[in-house]
Amino acid sequence: MSLKIAVVGAGPAGCMAACNLNKDFEITLFDKQSPLKTLLPTGGGKCNLAHAEFDFKELVKNYPRGEKFLYSAFSRFGTAETISFFENIGVKTYIRDDKRIFPISNSSKDVRNKILDKLHHCKFQKEEIISIKKLSTGFELTSKKSKYYFDIVIISTGGKSGYKILQDLGHTISEPKPSLVGFKTTPCLKELQGVSIRNCKIICDKKEFIGDIIFTDNGISGPAIFELSSINARKEFPYNITIDFLNSDIDLQELFNNNPHKNLGNLLSEYLPKSLIHEIIKTNLNEKCHAIRSNTKELINMTLRNFVFEINGTRKDGEIVTCGGINLNEINPKTFESKKISSLYVCGEVLDADGLCGGYNLQLCWSSGYLCATDVNLKE
Ligand SMILES: Cc1cc2nc3c(=O)[nH]c(=O)nc-3n(C[C@H](O)[C@H](O)[C@H](O)COP(=O)(O)OP(=O)(O)OC[C@H]3O[C@@H](n4cnc5c(N)ncnc54)[C@H](O)[C@@H]3O)c2cc1C
Repeated sequence: MSLKIAVVGAGPAGCMAACNLNKDFEITLFDKQSPLKTLLPTGGGKCNLAHAEFDFKELVKNYPRGEKFLYSAFSRFGTAETISFFENIGVKTYIRDDKRIFPISNSSKDVRNKILDKLHHCKFQKEEIISIKKLSTGFELTSKKSKYYFDIVIISTGGKSGYKILQDLGHTISEPKPSLVGFKTTPCLKELQGVSIRNCKIICDKKEFIGDIIFTDNGISGPAIFELSSINARKEFPYNITIDFLNSDIDLQELFNNNPHKNLGNLLSEYLPKSLIHEIIKTNLNEKCHAIRSNTKELINMTLRNFVFEINGTRKDGEIVTCGGINLNEINPKTFESKKISSLYVCGEVLDADGLCGGYNLQLCWSSGYLCATDVNLKE
């Protein structure tokens, strides 16, 4: 008799596990929605499926949660193995200048279809699993419609659900918090909605984050903010950050001295968007530089280089991954099997591990999914 395997959650992690399970097993994928639906919006629909960091010791540094835990996994299934896996299923990839890896088709739909092609031997069950009970041999899975029995269970329910099932099985969960998100701020500078500023420097708790930001209807977002939100995912609101919009060597005093007859607004808008200047500089922008008083110049300098925002909470935008999940001390980092319940495996975002923007979160799914399948394949 072949082993019966249940994969609960057919997102990237669960599907990666199913793809790599021994084809002789009887495999059922449960999902409350269509399989791999969560892959479709990734990378803005283009699917940033990994990051071109081929040294696993460097790769792990991009995971604010899980760095040590993922060391072993990435040493065995890292970026190179991910590229080969996709190549083997017919997804050729390319590396962008910023080291993000995408399919040549630039289509997450294409990646989804290629993965699903590899799963034709699996059974899909469109149902939500509401509880899992460990029996003396195997597991009982309960949905609203029915009960099912399996020898081995892989839980890959992502960052939004599945925690209760794991808690009922005796696992502990670190509190889920959103990461890679925008922030609600005071002031919110709503009039600047859609305006982006390139290469700002954000300072928070003496840490610096450099990158682009974009103003939104109620705060700020963009790559630099996502990174900050990941590092600070567990920090209590409210807290303050300062932004250096200029983030360059420009000496404003010198600039004013060298351009005495230029009007202030025109001069500053050579460096920053006009709309930003008009919104935050509370002085007469038509004034000629030579006429500006020195304390006003100092105020302009402070405003552009040390603009303070109070961060009040998170927005519902960005990649939105979950910081938090199943306690990593309870999972074997080599096999992704539960240390508490044998034959129970956990992979993907449901783990208390998450990465920065750039393909790291999908890499976590591919690596953990692959490695738990490899271990299941060793079971008789
Ligand atoms: C807009 C957006 C863009 C992103 N872009 C990128 C990117 O370009 N690169 C990158 O690396 N990461 C990206 N991410 C993050 C990445 O999508 C996630 O890290 C990844 O999807 C997690 O995969 P997973 O399989 O662990 O969980 P999920 O993708 O969340 O899948 C879990 C699945 O389990 C199902 N499920 C949950 N509970 C149950 C249950 N009880 N019974 C049955 N089914 C259940 C869900 O329906 C879901 O289909 C992005 C995220 C978002 C939101």
